[in-house]
Amino acid sequence: MELAVEGRLAIYFDNDFDLKFVKNPLLIIEEDRIVEIGTYDKIKHNLSGHDVVGDKNQLIIPGLINSHTHLAMTVFRGIADDIPLKTWLEENIWPLEAKLTEEDVYQGALLGSMESILSGVTTVNSMYWYPEFEAKAISDVGLKGIIAAPVITGITTLEDAIDIVKEHHNSLEETIRVSLALHSPYTVSISDFKAAHKFMKEYNSENPENPEVLIHTHLAESETEIKDSKKFNEKYEIPFPNVKTPVQFLDEIGILDENLMAAHCIHVNNKDINLLKDKRTKISLNPLSNAKLGNHMPPIPEIIKSTRLVGLGTDGPSSNNTLDLFDTIRFLAVYYKGLHHNPTLIKAEEAFRLATIGGAKAIGWEGIGTLEKNSFADIVTINLKKPHLTPNFDDKYLLNHFAYSMKGNDVTNVISNGKIILENSTLLNRDIDITLDEIEKITHRLVSTKSENDANSALLFQSKLHK
Ligand SMILES: [Zn+2]
Repeated sequence: MELAVEGRLAIYFDNDFDLKFVKNPLLIIEEDRIVEIGTYDKIKHNLSGHDVVGDKNQLIIPGLINSHTHLAMTVFRGIADDIPLKTWLEENIWPLEAKLTEEDVYQGALLGSMESILSGVTTVNSMYWYPEFEAKAISDVGLKGIIAAPVITGITTLEDAIDIVKEHHNSLEETIRVSLALHSPYTVSISDFKAAHKFMKEYNSENPENPEVLIHTHLAESETEIKDSKKFNEKYEIPFPNVKTPVQFLDEIGILDENLMAAHCIHVNNKDINLLKDKRTKISLNPLSNAKLGNHMPPIPEIIKSTRLVGLGTDGPSSNNTLDLFDTIRFLAVYYKGLHHNPTLIKAEEAFRLATIGGAKAIGWEGIGTLEKNSFADIVTINLKKPHLTPNFDDKYLLNHFAYSMKGNDVTNVISNGKIILENSTLLNRDIDITLDEIEKITHRLVSTKSENDANSALLFQSKLHK
């Protein structure tokens, strides 16, 4: 039985960034695609053979896109907060990460995938260790995802990452893609950046039938990034160019182009923003994570005025501390108004754009983030009969409700790749209680066996990855 979706109103951006509203909508799905979207009365004659999801109280939107996260880090949620980033990473996360097994990553990513579905996310762009196990978790619950073939110079090799790309890119019924995850300019050498870029260009031109492989990196996240990158390359006796900013650094070494997905972009000046625009670099903004970690904040109003290849990310669930993208949407729409004393900055419509079609452009995935005919049937319905979404008698209030009042748990139904995976707020593919128990056990084991000697033991991964 194929699906159809009905509701009170459908809102989406089309691929040209035009905002569309369809009253009393009906969406007809065949296999994994939306084959028709229109007013119920006009296309209801095509309903035979379709199970109808939704009702007249539902707002219909495209599945949201989390354009930067570290999905499996659910296992570290809430275990070390309110401390400096360096201490958090070096004394808390790295020692625990060194003990992670492939199964831990699978379970962590499974929880992250379920949490994503429950809050209306249908595509995730994740960067983490043991990416094959993240891919399995993402697929097992029916999501789309980009996993990361990790490159950290001195810990993982580019050769291993390339093998992961060759084996898994566009695999598992074309719902899983692989990025070359060059962690950051201060953990990846210039030589690795250049070699990865060269491989990527060759791979993309030799495999035109596949979606393009992208490079996923953290860019301009810390104030000392240039200094740290210079020091890092000196370790390998690689000359460092005379540049002032991380964006100009990547441009100088030939990495800044349309195949780069850059997360964060906090420390960027006007020249950098113009460079990112001119080179058509893809950007994921993670303002809620930036705020929680006490980072500086990215100049988002300026960035989104300059380029539309921009999406929103939650960042990892141990630094945000949730994968509910609605939290980040609301924060984005509110924070810059306060910062700049300007209530017209980042309108509800712009927040919606970033979480949907902007996210699709930011991760380079055609046919998602919209409800246009022939796009993927990744569809979310939201129950409007809620106290915090009332009044809503006029449709024009609903975008405002989306940005300022909605929460992940308002999501009622989620369809991904044409299949229903959340029905009446219940997950269909997995029993969440089993996963919750598994995570408790994993985190308990990791935390209770942590010792002082584990500090800075990320290198332990080296041996594990080359077993
Ligand atoms: Zn990150």
